[in-house]
Amino acid sequence: MGTMTFQGLPENKMTKQVCKEALLRKYPAGLPIPVRERFEEELKCLKNTGSVEELELAYRLKQKADKEKQPLLFRGTITGSFLFFLISHSRVNPLKPHYYCSKCGYYEELETDCFGIELPSKTCPDCGKQLEAEGFEIPIESVWGPLRSTPFYFEINSTPDFYGHAESVIKAFYADSDVRKFAETELPGFAVIPKGYLLSDDSNIHEDNNVKKIHMIFDDALVRIRDLQKKTGVSFYEIPASELGRINCMDIVNTGIFDELFVNLVMRIRPRCFKDICSVFALSRISCSYIQGHGLNAVSKTEALCEMVNQDFYQKYPVYTMEDFFDCMIREGFDRETSAKYMDGIHFGAIGRGRFLKKYPELEGVLLPDGLSQIANSIQYLWYRSEVVNRILKAASLSLFQKMEEVHIYL
Ligand SMILES: [Zn+2]
Repeated sequence: MGTMTFQGLPENKMTKQVCKEALLRKYPAGLPIPVRERFEEELKCLKNTGSVEELELAYRLKQKADKEKQPLLFRGTITGSFLFFLISHSRVNPLKPHYYCSKCGYYEELETDCFGIELPSKTCPDCGKQLEAEGFEIPIESVWGPLRSTPFYFEINSTPDFYGHAESVIKAFYADSDVRKFAETELPGFAVIPKGYLLSDDSNIHEDNNVKKIHMIFDDALVRIRDLQKKTGVSFYEIPASELGRINCMDIVNTGIFDELFVNLVMRIRPRCFKDICSVFALSRISCSYIQGHGLNAVSKTEALCEMVNQDFYQKYPVYTMEDFFDCMIREGFDRETSAKYMDGIHFGAIGRGRFLKKYPELEGVLLPDGLSQIANSIQYLWYRSEVVNRILKAASLSLFQKMEEVHIYL
């Protein structure tokens, strides 16, 4: 078979250069130790997993989207990466919640129940400048796997108008390969077929492992955001994350982009901060034994989920995302690798079934504390924290745009 080559510079200097420049822009007064450590660790993962290609492609798609003024988001493990954060204008800084002073380099990490963007405003104790607050605390293992060996994965999330632009970027990127659009299935996207590789049958594109698939999800909320960008003259990416962090739950609901289950849960639980809103959204996406047998009805699912989170073990271990499970295990004194393997197991819904111990036989005999094992055995699927955060950030942006539009109309 042929090989698939992408049009990167030798040793992919471009991406590294872009990352380094972004790093200096973001931290102009010097790199705090946790920043440097995460950056260097992820560069190693990037190299070891051969993910440079994915990062570089994501970067080029982002450049194109900016040029065409099309809002673009990504889905998949890439969104929790610090490298991706640096090159993409993403608001999801994966470090621990922290303050940073761009004038003198002061850095302060916090143990808090909030995300960084909702921390109270504060001035630098050393030089008096207003501090920047960030950090969604996404463990490196959530991106690169328990052994830091899982390559990046992403899907493109944009407007239908971006489909043609994405095609031109991908075709230029894989100039030696045969790039085809596919739209006949539920999920449109692109197939990259290596040069000289003969498909046995065109309908095999989706099953053929030699063909790279890049899926694209069209998003109505992003279409609305794009139209509101035009009307208001404000760019989606210019809205500061700190402003989005102060959104209230009714504004999120009023965007009209969420399903009945999430709206019901918000009404019942009344989340009080950004992180709580994210938890409720993640709860609406949980797949677990508590909601089985409750049919597909949003009202009965709401009851079952509220009953679940009100139980003592859930109060003790508030697990809404994969990373929440990881955090709970770390707090209980488990090492990172074991905790990360459980986080992975939760994601593929296997804990308590044979598949989990087949994948990680070394965990045979590891005992979780009571409540946590109850959660592990009942949950079949949890979302990534970065994905949950991205959804709520998108809704918060849409809500702010809608308010700007109202002002626009009434003035
Ligand atoms: Zn300072």
